[in-house]
Parts: sequence; C-alpha cells; structure tokens
Amino acid sequence: MGTVGHLGDAKALQAILERARDAFISLDAAGTIRAWNAAAERLFGWPAEEAVGRRVTDLLAPPSLRARYGEGLAYLLEHGPAVLPDHRLELTVTDRGGREFPIEMALQVDDEHGAPAIHAFVHDISERHAARRQLEEERTFLQTLLDSLQVGVMACDTDGRLTLVNQAARQLHRFPAESAAEDLHGPHSRHLFAPDGRTPLRPEQTPLARAFAGEQIEGQHLVIRPPGAGTRRCVVNSRPIATPDGRRLGAVSALHDITDQHRAQVLRDAQHAVAQVLAEAAGSEQVSAGVLTAVVRALDWSYGEYWQIGSTQNHLTCVGSWGRPGLSFTCDPEMRVQPGQGLAGLVWATGRATWISDLGADPRPFARRQDALRAGLRTAVALPVRSGDQVLGVLIFCSDAVQEPDDDLVAMLDGVCAHVGRYLERRRAEELALALAASRRHFDQVVSQIDDNVWTIEILPDGRTRSVYQSQRAAGIFGDPVPDDSDISGLLLQQIHPDDREAYTAFDSRVRSGENAQIECRFVGLDGVVRWIWIRSTPRREGGRLFADGISTDVTEHHRLAEEHDRMKDELVALVSHELRNPIGAIRGYVEMLVDTPGLTETQRTFAGIIDRTSAHLLRLVDDLLDLARLDAGHITIDPRPISLTRLVRQAVDDHRAAAESGHLDLVADLDLQLPVNADPLRLRQVLDNLLSNAIKYTPEGGAVTVGIGADEEGEGTAVVTVADTGIGIPPEQYPLLFTRFFRASTAQEAGIKGTGLGLAITKAIVEAHGGVITAAPREGGGTVLTVRLPASLPSAASPAG
Ligand code: ATP
Ligand code: MG
Repeated sequence: MGTVGHLGDAKALQAILERARDAFISLDAAGTIRAWNAAAERLFGWPAEEAVGRRVTDLLAPPSLRARYGEGLAYLLEHGPAVLPDHRLELTVTDRGGREFPIEMALQVDDEHGAPAIHAFVHDISERHAARRQLEEERTFLQTLLDSLQVGVMACDTDGRLTLVNQAARQLHRFPAESAAEDLHGPHSRHLFAPDGRTPLRPEQTPLARAFAGEQIEGQHLVIRPPGAGTRRCVVNSRPIATPDGRRLGAVSALHDITDQHRAQVLRDAQHAVAQVLAEAAGSEQVSAGVLTAVVRALDWSYGEYWQIGSTQNHLTCVGSWGRPGLSFTCDPEMRVQPGQGLAGLVWATGRATWISDLGADPRPFARRQDALRAGLRTAVALPVRSGDQVLGVLIFCSDAVQEPDDDLVAMLDGVCAHVGRYLERRRAEELALALAASRRHFDQVVSQIDDNVWTIEILPDGRTRSVYQSQRAAGIFGDPVPDDSDISGLLLQQIHPDDREAYTAFDSRVRSGENAQIECRFVGLDGVVRWIWIRSTPRREGGRLFADGISTDVTEHHRLAEEHDRMKDELVALVSHELRNPIGAIRGYVEMLVDTPGLTETQRTFAGIIDRTSAHLLRLVDDLLDLARLDAGHITIDPRPISLTRLVRQAVDDHRAAAESGHLDLVADLDLQLPVNADPLRLRQVLDNLLSNAIKYTPEGGAVTVGIGADEEGEGTAVVTVADTGIGIPPEQYPLLFTRFFRASTAQEAGIKGTGLGLAITKAIVEAHGGVITAAPREGGGTVLTVRLPASLPSAASPAG
C-alpha cells in the first residue's frame, strides 16, 4: 500500500490516486520524492516507504532524461514548462530490477504553497513502442519485397500522393533517388505516351489516375519516355485500393516492362513482312517499294528510301521512298548523288551501315538535313544492299524520335538488306535469262527468214566435231531436214559429190585446224538432187575451246544462171563479130580505097581521113570488147609456137617509133640478147603494142621510153620484157586496180589523156593465157615500169587458162 504525503486533506483525491492505473509521482524542488502511489510501486518495483524521501534520479536512473536535461528533474523544476512545450515527456527509465522501458510522463508544475513541486503521471508505453517498431519492420519488409520485384509498383493514398514507388517503377520513370513525394499527376505522368509512342497521355488517362477514379484496368499498353532516357514500353494493370467494407484507401499500378519482347516482336514482324514482300514481288521496283513500306510500318518508324547504283556505276539514284501518312518529306525520284555524297553516298563509299541518332546534332553537311528536321525526322539508319562484295544500293530508314544505336535492329536490317540483295541478284539473273531468250527468239526469227543454213560446230581436241547450232537443220544442203543430233560433218563427207571430194576434204581439214575456209562444191541430197553449196567457215576460240561458225548457201541457181550467162555471152560475141565487126571491116576497106582515090578535093580528102581514123578506132574498140567477152567466157585462145622474142619486140618498137617522135620522146631499146619463147606472135604483139602505146601516151614531151628484154636470173627459163617510161606515173594506192577493166588512173584523167581502160585488162589476160605474169611498179625517178615474165618454153599443147 503506498502513501501519499503532504496533499493536505484532499483525502478523496489521495484515494483516487491510489487506485489510478497510471503511476503518480510528486517531487519537491530538490527532486526528492514526496508522493508515490501504488501504480508507481508496481511499475518501478520500489515500495512507497523506500521511495518517498529519496531523490528520484537515485531511484529511477533515467539515463535519457539525464542526458537531455542535465541534472535531471532539478533542471526541469528550475526551468519549468519552458523546456517542456507540451508538458509531456517520453523517456526511458530503469526499474528496481534494472529493466529498462519507455514511459510517457505528463508533468504538472505546482507552485501554490511557495515551494515549487512537480507532479507526474507516468504511463508505461512499452507496448506502444513495440507496435510501432513492428509497423516499421513490416514496412521495411514490404519495401524490400517490392523493390525485389521486376514489376514496377506505384501506389497513391486517398489524397492522390504517391506513397509507394518500388525500385522497378523508379527505374522506369527515372525518379531521382531523393525524390520528394509526388502527386499522381506529378511530373512523371507527363512522360507517358500512347502505344504509338508519339501521342502523350492526358493526366486523367494515366492508369493510376483512372484507378484512383475507381476504374479497374487490365493490360493497358503505354510508352514511357522520361527526358534523357530510352523509350520503354509497358503493360499496366491498375486498381483502386479499398477496405473490405468499401472505404477507399488509394490506388495501385503494376507496370510490366515489355520493351525487349516488344522489340523482338517488332523485329520478327519486320522480317516477316519483308519475306512476304520478296515472295510476292513481281519486279525489282516493287521490291524496293514493298520493303520500305514493310520495314517502316513494322518498326513504327516514319520514313524510308531506296537508292540504286546506276548502270554506269558512277552515281546513285533514288528509286523509291515511303513515308507515314502526313509526313512532309520525300525524295525526288530522279535525284542522283556521287559516291561519298549525302548519307546514301557515304554508305556506298564506306560499304558500312551508318546510324545517326539525332540529325539535329550531326555535324555532317547532308543536303536535305534541314528538310528532314522540319518534317520531324530525327534518327536515320542507312545500310548497304549487296550482292557479294558489290554494293547494289542503299536503304535508309528514319524515325521521328531520337533513337540510340541499336545493335539488334541494325543486325535485323542487315539481314533484310541481305535478303533484298539476294533477291535483286536472282531477279537480275532471271531478267538476263529472259532477255537472252528474247534475243534468241529474235535471232531464230531472223535466221528463219534466210534460206542459208547458219551453223556452229565445236572442234573437239581429238579432231572430232560436235554440232552446237544448226539454223535449218541442214535442210538446204540435204533437201530434207536432218535430226538435231545427226553428225553433220560425217553426213557432209558421205554426201559430197565424187568430183568435189578432194577439194572438200582439204576444206574440211582447214576448218578442223581452226583456219578461215570457204568452198563451193556439190552435194548429193538425201532426196537425190545434186546441189551446189557455198560454205564459209570462221574459227572462234572461247575459253580454250575451238568453235567454227559458218554459213552454207545453196548456190545451185546461181550456177545455173552463170552457165546461162556464159551461153548468152557467147551468142553476143558471135552477134557482135558478125553483125558489127564485119560491116566496120567493109567500111574500112572502102575508105582505104577512097583515101587513095586521085582527084579528091581537099575537103573530100579530109572527110575520108576522118572516116578512116574513126572507123579504125571503132574497129579496135570492137576488137577489145570481143577480146574481153572471150576472156570472161574463158574463150581467149592462143596458138603458141617457138618464136624470137627479140625480133617481135624490135618490130613493135620500130612500129611505134613514129608515134614516139611525134611526141618528142626518146624511144630506146636494148635488144642484143636472142631470146626464143613459145608464144602466139599475134597475141604477144598485142601485149607489146598495148604497153608501148601506154608508155608513149602517158609520157609528156621530152621524156624517154626504154624497152628491155632478158632472162630472169632467179626463175629458170623465164623471159622478161620491161617497158619503162619517165611519164606521169600512177599514184601508188591505185596500182592494185591497174589491171581491172575500165580502170583509169587519176593522173591520166587529170592530164586529160583519152582512153577506155581496156588495154591492160586484155594484156593481163593474154600474158596469163601464156602462163606468164605481168606486174607494174613506179620507176625510180618518176614514171612507170611494166614487166612481163613469160615461160621461155611453153608446152605447145598448153590448155588455155580461164
Ligand atoms: P585503152 O583501153 O585505149 O588502152 P587506157 O590506156 O586508158 O585505154 P589501159 O591501157 O588499160 O587503158 O590503162 C589503164 C590506165 O592505166 C590508163 O588509163 C592510165 O591511167 C594508166 N596507165 C597505163 N599505163 C600507164 C603508163 N605507162 N603511165 C601512166 N599511166 C598508165
Ligand atoms: Mg592503153
């Protein structure tokens, strides 16, 4: 039982204090205990008899009180309520048994009787302390648990204050480490965008705000893009928090970061879309357009272009572009850049993918950068499209958000470019094959229009041949088409006309040895008809293999016409000689008589002279024409016999001396040697006359004509006649034409010297009919030398040459 001293006669009060549940202690100014009730005895373990009269600090050993208030209650008494704002203290004390425990003390400073005193109600608050500690522990436990989750969790209280944001949510929103408690409409809510990543969410649209308003939300997709951090994509579940009886406590959101899955899905979608485009595209242009659209759409980017390397390999042309609806940026389809120029040119030159995170911050001078920025484009990625080592083009993609380089995306786009490259390569091969087939059709069409047989054979190393191509399957040669796999060479050898076999064998071996060759010969067709075939063959070497390309033409008709032609020519010759030559001969006979007739007047004689000269010229012309016609028909005949070349030449020279003198020319002949030849004297004389008349005719006054004969030192038994002059000569490039009929050198024409150009053609034919050769060459010092070589002893039965 405790004692309450000095409380006067307030017995009732004393009784109340004795029964009170809280301890009651009363102290004097020196801190000595004056009252100590039963509850104080229970709480501190000191009975009232021992407690009353002792200093309270000796008894309760309140370390924390001492620590804070110096010498304890004495200090409190001195300073009074000034240091105790609410007259209520929490402190720790130690009981009689040494147990430490927290108390709450309500103080009352009493000064009524002149001596200050302190009355204190003491309440054990151990339980309350324990409960608070437990709450704190639970909170720590919860926070640690939430922070360990990958899911972001955010909760707000009834006032809409964010009371709980776990580590994952802080990371997603980039909350500063020491962030002040935010409101649910605070700054973080302004980094939230709709799934397109572009449209900002209004404050009332955020999942937490909707849940706060009472909605329950499952699986809302949104994009979080805090300033200076990458874009994250989340699926959010949100719900209001309420007590079981329906009292609203706030709202909570759980954010699942699906950025990586989403990106993987986007990449897969893009690859899939590209694969589909490639599978369905009908041409290279469709591929570039389709791939751009597919990739830009699948990535949810804004723009793409395709640049192709021109056929000349010195520029890139923009062949296609695609932008999301409403984008005000495109590429002029005829725009061209050189290697190294612009983003496309840069990628072409380096052959490497290039990622520009922010066009606005890139220092390179790209021509269309300002336009792109104005249209809202920020990130650009450009990649080469290759076939093997060769760059075929460049693909460019642009996004209107700043995107940091993304290796996975570049790898995916690289894969897309590789697909496109392979497609273009395959397509090009197909297009080439089509073009080849078309040109082959065209070739076949052309070839089918001609009657000739166009062919190619391969000459194998062992000498055998393989037919590579036959336009008419040799129908023109054999009368009937032969099967494709026939051995044409063998068939030709088998069907050759016996008379032409030798010539054909020679031709065949020239073809097989890879030489140019041609032949005109007869084949007996499979239909029994004999045909003249003209075959030309040209060798071609390709990659170490030998081919021969050729044309075979049926010239049977040509031969028939030629024979017809010869026959007609013979008839003409006969006609001319009888119907023209004979009358002229008659005219000449009579005019010769007329010229010699005495008693003609001067005029009559002049006229007769003109008729004489003109008819002589006419006769010579007719003779020349006849000679030529006979030459063509192979009918020129010579009648060789042993004669003295020396004498024949001397006679000819003598006969031309008058003409030479009238032209004031020196005619020199060195004719000491006796040279017998076997020749037709009339025809040989014709040769000499032609050569001498030319030499005199084409040598101006004061010149010289020199005639020589001799035996050739080299060719045994060859007689040589030379006629050299100092005349006007012949331009060197015209020598090859000298012996063709009707040819007249430019020098003769310029000098105005008349002639028909038949003399040398006839001369050559006569010399060759004798088995000889005639040549012409410039004379040293000016003029011309004509040389005739004749076999000295021609067999008398020699056949005429054609
Ligand atoms: P014709 O049929 O009357 O003889 P032509 O003398 O013109 O006429 P050719 O004798 O065949 O015909 O000679 C052909 C051409 O060759 C001549 O026109 C002349 O231009 C040139 N020619 C021939 N001999 C000589 C020569 N000795 N000097 C210069 N030119 C010559
Ligand atoms: Mg002449």
